[in-house]
Amino acid sequence: MKIGIYPGTFDPITLGHLDIITRASSLVDMLIIGVLINHSKKPVFNAEERVELIERVIKDHPELPPMKVEAFDGLLVDFAKEKNASIIVRGLRAITDFEYELQIAQTNHKLSPHIDTVFFNTRLEYSYLSSSTVREIASFGGNIKQFVPECILQSVYDKYSSIRSVNNGSKQN
Ligand code: ADP
Repeated sequence: MKIGIYPGTFDPITLGHLDIITRASSLVDMLIIGVLINHSKKPVFNAEERVELIERVIKDHPELPPMKVEAFDGLLVDFAKEKNASIIVRGLRAITDFEYELQIAQTNHKLSPHIDTVFFNTRLEYSYLSSSTVREIASFGGNIKQFVPECILQSVYDKYSSIRSVNNGSKQN
């Protein structure tokens, strides 16, 4: 059984991620979406929330084959080994992604020669899209409908309205 891992921060999942998930899932027998807990990036959504949002999106797409969503911490190759994965899936948006991704892929291959990284180039319509763009627009209450799956739209808005009310509360104190 060929197992693949698609790792990322997914803060939050976007239509670009969903496109990679859809295409990568036909390449392996089981795709595991690995949600990096990522203390260094200080995500807006905590790991459980990010896992739940992805699970919701997958449920909303019954045409997708069965897959798992799991949070992980530490080295990606260790997580991949633990899951018996032989493929790591990454998406490439622009040439700027490439240099960084190539270096990581080569390092991971050195650490674990049985694991290969497969790159999917982004569909043109999502090449500009990143979770940080979504967060930026949502933080100002802008329209993110064309960037994230419909079923998580309200949760992203709710998160930012709760952040705004916490910020306003602390300004008044
Ligand atoms: P990371 O912190 O690992 O970069 P992200 O959640 O930003 O996590 O991205 C996870 C993976 O998805 C990366 O391989 C990234 O290149 C890819 N990705 C992100 N946005 C898009 C997009 N719009 N189209 C295709 N791939 C994307």
